[in-house]
Amino acid sequence: MAKAPVLTPRADDFPRWYQDLINKAELADNGPVRGTMVIRPYGYGLWERMQAEMDARIKETGTQNAYFPLLIPQSYFAKEADHVEGFAPELAVVTHGGGKELEEPAVVRPTSEMIINDYFSKWVQSYRDLPLLINQWANVVRWELRPRLFLRTTEFLWQEGHTAHATYEEARDFAARIQSDVYGDFIRNVLAMDFVSGRKTVKERFAGAVNTLTLESMMGDGKALQMVTSHELGQNFAKAFNTRYLSREGKQELVWQTSWGSTTRMIGALVMTHGDDNGLRVPPRLAQIQVVVLAIKGDETVLAKVREIGDRLKAAGLRVHVDDRTDIPFGRRAVDWELKGVPVRIELGPRDLENGTAMLARRIPGGKEAVPLDALAALLPTVLEEDQELLLRQSRERRESRTSEVSTIEQAVEATAAGGWARVPWAELGEEGEARLAEHAVTVRCLVAEDGSVPDADDAPGNVAVVARAY
Ligand code: AMP
Repeated sequence: MAKAPVLTPRADDFPRWYQDLINKAELADNGPVRGTMVIRPYGYGLWERMQAEMDARIKETGTQNAYFPLLIPQSYFAKEADHVEGFAPELAVVTHGGGKELEEPAVVRPTSEMIINDYFSKWVQSYRDLPLLINQWANVVRWELRPRLFLRTTEFLWQEGHTAHATYEEARDFAARIQSDVYGDFIRNVLAMDFVSGRKTVKERFAGAVNTLTLESMMGDGKALQMVTSHELGQNFAKAFNTRYLSREGKQELVWQTSWGSTTRMIGALVMTHGDDNGLRVPPRLAQIQVVVLAIKGDETVLAKVREIGDRLKAAGLRVHVDDRTDIPFGRRAVDWELKGVPVRIELGPRDLENGTAMLARRIPGGKEAVPLDALAALLPTVLEEDQELLLRQSRERRESRTSEVSTIEQAVEATAAGGWARVPWAELGEEGEARLAEHAVTVRCLVAEDGSVPDADDAPGNVAVVARAY
């Protein structure tokens, strides 16, 4: 009899497969308030690794971490018209505190431009105070109508960067630097995910920004996901908060600003990119557990050996977990580690011990082989690097093979209906074409220049629109 699949097969029902995986790999549960999420320890461990890798890259740019309040006076939201209009439908507002109606309701932050800029206007006095580069790790609340675990939750965890600069060029270059050196580098080299980097159209831009840069990745079903965004805010918020500095020339000037964010959505992206019918596959550079050493049986010599191997691999610099729960059947534990996507399993039983070998099971390419115990520490770093590269290659090949070059709206709709992306000349499309695509639930994910770079303007000649159905 064939074994029942552990998860709903991906090809049968992708959204159910996703839900199943999150549940069975113990990543998260739904919270009691619709759209909220409980992140379980294994899922939170992924987030902690993401935070560590991202935080180092953010600090490399000279940005410092700070913390601002969760509650923002409602009146602040009247200060920047586009920002307010964009966020109004998603706001959660606190009207009562300590049993009394508040004199002024407080908004639970959906993003912190409003409160951070209030303080920037106090902190920035002269050109010597610039650039001001601040990041915050926090939770935010957006009342989402179509929530989905990790990808779109009502409360999510993120980092939000906010910066102020003396010139337009400095701000523009900083937003681009975050996009490539922080986000692009992290997503490609740690998450092993391919992406297209481009600019958002006016319709898709962040509320209050003059330009939004985005990284868009293709998920396992061919749909797109906006991974991260980096915004040029121009002087919109500087005007709203009157954030001025005294220039070298002794003149009062408005600052130029950026903001940029990345969220727990990246965990959902990881699942939808690298997951398969057996569960998640975690890229080794991200994995909080790169190698799990399993005792097949509760025999004392096996247990002692498994712990010794664990220590030796840890000493070799690997992130290792020893699974000695021999009161749980070995098969069940093996399936569980597959679900969780730990890249390498080292399995050891009495017979292996006699032979001086262990079974090396590789989650990412699949397959098992016997390896001499003494060879493990030297072999594993190479194996893990190979796996890391393989995941990135598979992600890139998926996008390349499922992207079509088209020249009309009809062709774009057809190409994206079956799950896939289309590239259409922006000159063929324009805002009218963008609106027509929207009738088919297809959106312009971003605009890219002919040579693949990020264009300086929406209507630069040769711009190509990358269009897709998206999460
Ligand atoms: P924004 O401040 O709107 O530019 O959002 C920053 C990033 O947060 C976006 O690029 C998305 O990837 C992500 N994001 C937006 N809304 C949500 C949500 N409801 N849940 C999780 N991530 C989100």
